Amino acid sequence: MSDDCLFCKMARGEIKPDTVYEDEKILAFRDINPQGPVHVLVIPKEHIPTLNDLEEHHAELLGRMFLVAKKIAEQENFAETGYRTVINCNRHGGQEVFHIHLHVIGGRQMTWPPG
Ligand code: 5GP
Ligand code: ZN
Repeated sequence: MSDDCLFCKMARGEIKPDTVYEDEKILAFRDINPQGPVHVLVIPKEHIPTLNDLEEHHAELLGRMFLVAKKIAEQENFAETGYRTVINCNRHGGQEVFHIHLHVIGGRQMTWPPG
């Protein structure tokens, strides 16, 4: 946990986001600036700053984050039509919040390559 981290404050319940899923280790909530009809962020409650900080013991946690992404896609009814999952890392990746998070964006046609 990091005292001044926005997503840690959400994980601790000090700031209440628009939560769509929560369990002991994971929280998922709607992005404040959605990039599609549905845009959810899936975070671990543990403070891991970036993808570069992942360690072997995080493997199950990351797998669980993707299982939550799948569940959200089913709940939001775009599992079959499709959706985008993204983890931005550091400056060139466009990361702005340094608590690892999985973007789940759906409800519109995505394009490739991303900007
Ligand atoms: P990044 O650029 O780090 O991959 O993504 C950070 C995401 O967090 C952005 O999509 C941004 O809109 C979202 N975000 C930033 N501040 C808040 C907030 O206070 N509440 C919510 N729900 N999302 C936020
Ligand atoms: Zn944090």
